[in-house]
Amino acid sequence: MKRRNFLKNATLTTAGLAVGSTLASCAESDSKEKKVITTPQASLPLVIATWNVPNATAKAWEILNNGGSVLDALEQGCMVEEADIKNQSVGKGGRPDRDGNVTLDACIMNKDGNCGSVVYMKNITHAITVARKVMEDTPHVMLAGKGAEDYAVSIGMKRENLLTEASKKEWKEWLVEKEYKPIINIENHDTIGMLAIDKNGDISGACTTSGLAYKMGGRVGDSPIIGSGLFVDNQIGAAVATGMGEEVVKTVGSFLVVELMRKGKSPQEACEEAIKRIVNKPNSDYKNFQVGYIAVNKQGETGAYSIHEWFSMTKFQDGKNENIQSDFFNKTV
Ligand code: ASP
Repeated sequence: MKRRNFLKNATLTTAGLAVGSTLASCAESDSKEKKVITTPQASLPLVIATWNVPNATAKAWEILNNGGSVLDALEQGCMVEEADIKNQSVGKGGRPDRDGNVTLDACIMNKDGNCGSVVYMKNITHAITVARKVMEDTPHVMLAGKGAEDYAVSIGMKRENLLTEASKKEWKEWLVEKEYKPIINIENHDTIGMLAIDKNGDISGACTTSGLAYKMGGRVGDSPIIGSGLFVDNQIGAAVATGMGEEVVKTVGSFLVVELMRKGKSPQEACEEAIKRIVNKPNSDYKNFQVGYIAVNKQGETGAYSIHEWFSMTKFQDGKNENIQSDFFNKTV
C-alpha cells in the first residue's frame, strides 16, 4: 500500500476556505483555560471517518450537501459499512467473539450533547440506527444485550444471522490456533467512527463496531461509551476512536481529545497528546496494540494520529473523498 504522510495540523487550503467566517469570540473561563468559540472556516459540509471508507463518507456528505440532517448523514453513512459483509469489523459479517457470536456496539451524539448507544447487541445489522432511536425515542442513553435487540425488533428492525461464512471460517481457524492476538488491530480495518459538520457549522458524531475479534463473551469496548469511543461538544469539536478499546476507556480518550482542543490545541495536536497518554503510561504494552483517533474542531480543521502505522482517515469535502494516511507514534518498530 502506498503511504502518504499525514499533513500535520491538517489545516485547510486556501481553496477550502469559505469567505467571511472568522474567529467570533475568545472567552476565558479561568486564567489557564481558553475557551475558543469560532464559526467554521472550512468549506462545509465536511465528513471525516476512521479508516478507508469512501462509500460511507460519500453517502454522508451527499445527504448533508442536499440539505439533509447531520444525524441522517451519519446514520446512513455508517449503515453503508454495517451492511457490507466484506467489512468484517462492523455490522453484518463482523468477526465474532470466542464463542462464535457477533455482538455489536454503537453510539451517536448530536450537537446538543444528547446521545444514545447500544452494547453487546446480537442479530441486528444496523446498530447505529438502534443507537439513534435510543437517543431520540427513549428516556435512556444506553441499552444492552437482549434489551437492545428486543427494542430494535419493537421498532420494526429484523433479526438476522450476522455471522457470515467468511467470518465463521476465520473464527474456526482461530479456534484451532487459540491464540488471542489483539495485535490484529494494527493492520485490519476496525470500528467506523464518523464525524460531520453540516452547512450550519453544527457538529455530530457516530461510531459502530463489532468490537475486537474473538473477544471474551460479554466484552464491550470503547465504541458505545460516550467520552471514550466518541465525544462531541458543538462549541469545540468532536473526536472518535478506533483500536484497542480497553486502552481508550482507561484514558477516556475522545473526551480527552475534545478537552485538549478546548484548551487551545489543534485537532492534530490533541490526537497526538491523547495517544501519548496511552503510550506513556507506566508499563504500557503499546507495541502490541493499536489505537487511533480522528478529530475535527469548530473551524473545520481535522487531525488523525495513531500508535502504529496503518491507520488512515477518510475525508469528504468539496465533493470529493481523500484518504489520508495518519502520522503515528511508533515509527521505530
Ligand atoms: N474500538 C473497538 C473495540 O475495542 C474495536 C476496534 O476499533 O478495533 O471494541
